[in-house]
Amino acid sequence: MPTVAVVGGSLGGLTTALLLRDAGCDVTVYERSAAALSARGAGIAVLEQTLRYPVERLGLAPETISTQTHQVRFLDPDGSTAHAESRLNRFSAWNTIYRVLHDAFGSERYLLGMELAAFRGEGRRAELTFSTGEVREADLLVCADGIGSPARQRLFPQVAPEYAGYVAWRGTVPEAMLSEATSESLRDAITYQVLPHSHILVYPIPGLDGSVQPGERLVNIVWYRNVTEADLPAHLTGRDGVRRDVSIPPGQVRSEQVDEMRGFAADHLAPQIAEVVTSVPEPFVQAIFDIDVPRMARGRVCLVGDAAFAVRPHAAAGTAKAAEDGWVLAEELVRAEGDLDASLPRWEERQLALGASLLARTRAVGDSSQHRDDFRAGDPALVFGLYGPGQ
Ligand SMILES: Cc1cc2nc3c(=O)[nH]c(=O)nc-3n(C[C@H](O)[C@H](O)[C@H](O)COP(=O)(O)OP(=O)(O)OC[C@H]3O[C@@H](n4cnc5c(N)ncnc54)[C@H](O)[C@@H]3O)c2cc1C
Repeated sequence: MPTVAVVGGSLGGLTTALLLRDAGCDVTVYERSAAALSARGAGIAVLEQTLRYPVERLGLAPETISTQTHQVRFLDPDGSTAHAESRLNRFSAWNTIYRVLHDAFGSERYLLGMELAAFRGEGRRAELTFSTGEVREADLLVCADGIGSPARQRLFPQVAPEYAGYVAWRGTVPEAMLSEATSESLRDAITYQVLPHSHILVYPIPGLDGSVQPGERLVNIVWYRNVTEADLPAHLTGRDGVRRDVSIPPGQVRSEQVDEMRGFAADHLAPQIAEVVTSVPEPFVQAIFDIDVPRMARGRVCLVGDAAFAVRPHAAAGTAKAAEDGWVLAEELVRAEGDLDASLPRWEERQLALGASLLARTRAVGDSSQHRDDFRAGDPALVFGLYGPGQ
């Protein structure tokens, strides 16, 4: 089996690294961050594929690493229920899933402070050069370096991220800090409110210590609000004056923006949702982009997760797609008995089809909410899923 270098040690990189190691490859993960990745507080809705490694290979029960809710509810501005349906959804936190995958992979071959600066992959081997000056080789370089993927920019310089016209305000608040009435109202549901050219979702996720017990969890918000392309640079400039490309981390969003967001929430959101939003101590902002790639493999280099397609979050499938890229890569490699010339094209064909269809679906949902303004409660297209709504 080939030796593999995985660049990027987040959920996509770790899942792929674990699966390729299980398949018999000699795998090393290179992560740019110098410190352990632990502070990414965002909640995520999780699909079967995101939890598949922890459940199938580590024997964990989904209930131990994710919260679950049994209802989907849409609220009117006065807080009454406009629409409700029964559906099981699972939610987790980046931290929770990362901890499980990282513990499974171990620290020995998970190297921090290793920023890939350049690579070559045209021959039979890939050559990686890090910003430290170190050079390493592998039979296959898997780039799981996220939405800003420097590797994608090098392989496909013509691919430009396309701004979707809106940002997501995100953040969490301890369930225990909320009033009893709000906590009760939100406890067993993913709760939506649709506003003109906007919508917000609220759901419970595990606490920072991983607890999934009601009362010890966090409540997570994702609020999509339109920002013109001209205003985007101001929205992505933090308190420190630094202009970011994609997101401003917690604690860095300028206070006038936070005040405007909280004021709008108090005036326009259902009381339960407004209470959550205005209680989030450190909300943060992520701009939403579409990234569409023509290829996912070239020579001995391939792209997985957001490094290939970055899709809008409306199918809750970003981490599932990243994981699925890893599962299918391992499957094709095993099928071809480790032959990269045979397996990479088959993998690429399958994952290009998945990425393109997911991108089209999430674009349609996002445009319906933010631009066409015909986003409606109970629309079957809103059901989360990787291969299609509910799939
Ligand atoms: C508002 C919003 C809501 C979302 N909600 C959900 C949801 O509910 N459910 C869901 O499944 N997904 C959701 N997503 C999508 C999800 O967050 C991403 O799809 C997922 O994090 C992608 O994982 P990844 O491993 O591909 O990339 P990332 O998590 O971005 O990781 C990339 C890694 O590569 C490292 N790196 C970068 N460059 C280098 C380099 N040169 N050398 C070495 N390392 C490098 C980075 O430090 C980082 O650790 C959401 C996204 C947004 C914006």
